[in-house]
Amino acid sequence: MTDTVKYVLDESRLPTHWYNLAADLPEPPPPVLHPGTGQPVGPDDLAPLFPMALILQEVSTEREIGIPEPVREVYRQWRPSPLYRARRLERALDTPARIYYKYEGVSPPGSHKPNTAVAQAFYNREAGIRKISTETGAGQWGSSLAFAGALFGIEVQVFMVRVSYDQKPYRRAFMETFGARCIPSPSDQTNYGRQVLAEHPDSPGSLGIAISEAVEVAATSADTNYALGSVLNHVLLHQTVIGLEAKEQMAMAGDYPDVVIACAGGGSNFAGLTFPFIGDKLREGRSVRIVAAEPAACPSLTRGTYAYDFGDTGKMTPLVKMHTLGSSFVPPGFHAGGLRYHGMAPLVSHAKELGLIEAVALMQTACFEAGVTFARHEGIVPAPEATHAIRAAIDEALRAKEEGRPRTILFNLSGHGHFDMGAYSDYFAGRLVDQHYDENELSAALAGLPKVE
Ligand SMILES: *Cc1c(COP(=O)(O)O)cnc(C)c1O
Repeated sequence: MTDTVKYVLDESRLPTHWYNLAADLPEPPPPVLHPGTGQPVGPDDLAPLFPMALILQEVSTEREIGIPEPVREVYRQWRPSPLYRARRLERALDTPARIYYKYEGVSPPGSHKPNTAVAQAFYNREAGIRKISTETGAGQWGSSLAFAGALFGIEVQVFMVRVSYDQKPYRRAFMETFGARCIPSPSDQTNYGRQVLAEHPDSPGSLGIAISEAVEVAATSADTNYALGSVLNHVLLHQTVIGLEAKEQMAMAGDYPDVVIACAGGGSNFAGLTFPFIGDKLREGRSVRIVAAEPAACPSLTRGTYAYDFGDTGKMTPLVKMHTLGSSFVPPGFHAGGLRYHGMAPLVSHAKELGLIEAVALMQTACFEAGVTFARHEGIVPAPEATHAIRAAIDEALRAKEEGRPRTILFNLSGHGHFDMGAYSDYFAGRLVDQHYDENELSAALAGLPKVE
């Protein structure tokens, strides 16, 4: 067998439908609640923020939802994305395990996020919306929506977490190249931003604060909608093209995974790769382990409480039941900015409660070490977020060696790290340290969870 083993699907194999896990779950996830009344929200409650097509996907229990042709047309620019067998890495680890990875860094913005950005821009334009406001942490979501907005003629306004805005000027330039406006958050453009600045003039910002600002803009302007890059059911749905393609590619390889791994921040790339395999598990009883790899400094799945909470810091969003560290929890500033979110997608949280998935929490230096090993053998510099999946996959391969039992491992390489070389510089200079969250701050944030029922 040659060293470069790549499974490429023909364009004609681009999925025609997204896969909706809700159709196969043994029990439905708990409803989303209105923060004022405590009652389940209806479609009309969400209409100021999202087009009806996305609201209906949010609550759908249909197994297959058709991908509109204009969305497939854009997907075709880089999809189906390649799946590789990591032969050189396997040899370096001297493992009997077979390691495969699905590579989402081939999209123009360099991650999985355009899979949903393109769909969201399309449905908004169909609904006659001209402007979308959103937030971005590390910059990957803002870049993806800016890209999609340019293709569908939608103006995009991005509230970018202050610390990233200062640290990553090229991410901002990338968004501006597509015509998006990028504003550091907290900003003086919203009531909530002004309130935060009045109390903390030097606030570094957080994803929770930026979400509040973007939601406020959309809720108070008739011509502007809001878009979220992870967490929500419709976002996870759009990402399932990853897993649907991967299943076909594993079949091409004549193999099927024993374990499927992805990193988890809000849960979207994890859901994208794993939900179609969880569907196999539920419908056909296939035995496959599903593992979420999260950062030890922001461990919502392994350390959070499963409870109703707000999605933002300003407490403007509906209440969703999820694994949460508390909406006021501000994680320490580690380098995988895309994993610094206080909650986990409700569907992923529900799957965890049902025992369908496992989770591991990993330290960032061990993840960078794995990322560098991966780059030196496979030739791709991974995004800091994706190094969590690589660490978990390597650990699994080393366990296979220890136990002398082969197994098939599949993981998601959610993006490349070309905009994150500052983090790699810090790692090589020994400036990267393992961050621990503050236990007292976590207790305080959990004590502040909204009381429901
Ligand atoms: C945003 C991002 C993540 C984390 O978000 P999820 O919704 O958990 O997938 C992971 N990897 C990359 C490359 C990202 O851009």
